[in-house]
Amino acid sequence: MRGVAVLGSTGSIGKSALRVLERHPDRFRVVALTARSNATLLREQIARYRPEYSGLVTAAEGAPKGCAVGEHCLLEAATHPSVDIVLNAVVGAAGTAATLAALRCGKRVALANKETLVVAGHLAMRLAREHGGEIVPVDSEHSAILQCIGGQPRSSVAKIVLTASGGPFRDWSVDRLRLATPEDALRHPTWDMGRKITVDSATLANKGLEVIEAHYLFDVPYDAIEVVVHPQSIVHSLVEFVDGSVLAQLGVPSMELPILFALTFPERLEDLAMPRLDLIRVSPLTFEAVRLEDFPALRLGLAAGRRGGAAPAVFNAANEVAVARFLDGTLSFPGISMAIESALEALGDLPGESLEDVMAADAEARAHVRGVPAC
Ligand code: NDP
Ligand code: MG
Repeated sequence: MRGVAVLGSTGSIGKSALRVLERHPDRFRVVALTARSNATLLREQIARYRPEYSGLVTAAEGAPKGCAVGEHCLLEAATHPSVDIVLNAVVGAAGTAATLAALRCGKRVALANKETLVVAGHLAMRLAREHGGEIVPVDSEHSAILQCIGGQPRSSVAKIVLTASGGPFRDWSVDRLRLATPEDALRHPTWDMGRKITVDSATLANKGLEVIEAHYLFDVPYDAIEVVVHPQSIVHSLVEFVDGSVLAQLGVPSMELPILFALTFPERLEDLAMPRLDLIRVSPLTFEAVRLEDFPALRLGLAAGRRGGAAPAVFNAANEVAVARFLDGTLSFPGISMAIESALEALGDLPGESLEDVMAADAEARAHVRGVPAC
């Protein structure tokens, strides 16, 4: 029986994770739950799962009884002694410190919060090594890669191929992209997700974050990571080995499978409720080149990853604020990439050795993008 903390339990991944956990009560116990501000849903979840610990970051509408209030709740949940696995489903760089704290305690982190690895990839991987913790990805592409690599040594891997759905604007012209509204961007063709990652999928910033995530998780150089558009979202990613053989992992687009695998890895657990793949129904499966020139956020993410230091943290923070501004109508869709580019030009060479370094760069990038004029 393993104790699980779900950070971000009121979000898209958090709710999926609770559905998966509920199906396996003989294997997992929900020990801790945290949310940012959705006290109503958190109250319902507390009544249903009866966790030992619950926390709310801000409690404007009143907190459930016995629930901790304040940012520290993330760290308390992540380091709780009855917790074996921390499922980090917080959105944004706000999830970073909790991942690092859990790794410092030698726990498994089932990581949906990819921003952790973008902001502090080298620190997270080092902490995992030093304290006996581990990061198992929830992100579907990275779960696919982990499954394809299996027990093979790192030296057998020649290349990683990340698939991208292409998002709602895959076949939009550049002229049309200038007019894209938040409603357009929030209409994802294959995945049902939180608002921020849905916009990231439309700009392809999400794939930029994922390339950096893959670089740290699998210790693969940027030159050996490729992105290919696959609109059906059935092939979740592929690995090419040194002998030329390519393995892929397939499944219907549901986050429940990568969530379950991150909890049970390296084992597999029977789950008859998991949606099954019908190859005839999903065919044909197609692949196409990514439009790097028309979706500059991916190009900027790749460049930030290669640049290193605090550049990935600047890329991430700039993107977070730019997405929020796009959603509240003060930046256009192309304005998101322009704001990220402007932040990277101004701040991309900041140092990124320590957590203090990257958090300082994160704060500067946020301030920078808040100051970018409406465009
Ligand atoms: P959502 O916006 O749906 O949920 C985010 C969760 O985190 C909510 O519980 C929210 O609480 C909480 N939260 C938000 N901000 C903070 C904060 N500052 N401090 C503490 N808690 C916070 O996001 P998703 O579930 O879509 O995504 C979560 C993570 O998983 C992201 O990193 C995303 O990139 C990644 N991911 C998501 C996928 C998906 O299918 N959704 C797929 C692959 C990766 P509240 O509800 O109270 O605001
Ligand atoms: Mg993904």
